[in-house]
Amino acid sequence: MKVFISADIEGVSGVVHGEHTMREGREHDYARMLMTKEVNACVLGALEAGADKVIVNDSHGTMRNIYHEQLHEKAELILGAPKKLAMMEGINHNFDAALFVGYHTKMGSQGVLNHTFNGRVIRSIEVNGIELGEFGLNALVAGYFNVPVVFVSGCDLVAKEAKALIPSIHQTIVKQTINRTTALNTHPVLVRELIKEDTKTALLACKEISPYRIDSPYTVKMTFLNTGQADAVEILPYVKKNGPLGISFVCKDILECYQLIRSSIMIAGSIS
Ligand SMILES: [Zn+2]
Repeated sequence: MKVFISADIEGVSGVVHGEHTMREGREHDYARMLMTKEVNACVLGALEAGADKVIVNDSHGTMRNIYHEQLHEKAELILGAPKKLAMMEGINHNFDAALFVGYHTKMGSQGVLNHTFNGRVIRSIEVNGIELGEFGLNALVAGYFNVPVVFVSGCDLVAKEAKALIPSIHQTIVKQTINRTTALNTHPVLVRELIKEDTKTALLACKEISPYRIDSPYTVKMTFLNTGQADAVEILPYVKKNGPLGISFVCKDILECYQLIRSSIMIAGSIS
């Protein structure tokens, strides 16, 4: 069995604030350690379920967060950026299942540290009228390769967001949302135990979960936080403005959509 793990940090138990998720400082280093141990719990669960290949993709910010040495030696780790498939770099048709660790809700929904890719750029992203966050967009990329997303960990509300798209997904809820930067957290040691067990259960049932797909062609609508960002993104081919803050484009292929979304965010992120 070949397993792909995409690891973010906002949905890790104990992570509730920008100081945990930004690039430096004592709080960030502590959060990286918590993230690493939750990812490792997922790796251990995968190995216990019989996985013979586990690829972990560090998917947060710099994409250089996980302490490599603390991962089980059978896991291989993708570190660094830029990556053509960003949070899904490394996925392909050969995997049996994808698992998302430390995930968070989409921008503007409730949920701890909610945002979609870049909290200073994106208000919303829709594909064929369905508003999706990182969970949904990354699940579509897995679905393109016929890989089901069988597990997600994070706050109570990302669990709900995931279940709405993939009803039979397995999940570990590591914290209850109180508000965007406050949560009731389960103890890290207990969380790791739960992630390991839930991963194992999810992988043993992975054939029962269908890959997440939306029918092609894809009309993508993106809304930005300031009008200058939409102006800048309109420079890209295929992209049309559809209002002061919005752009849209149409693609036949989900990977093209994902790459145009990611490129748009990089361009918009360069506008202050
Ligand atoms: Zn993140």
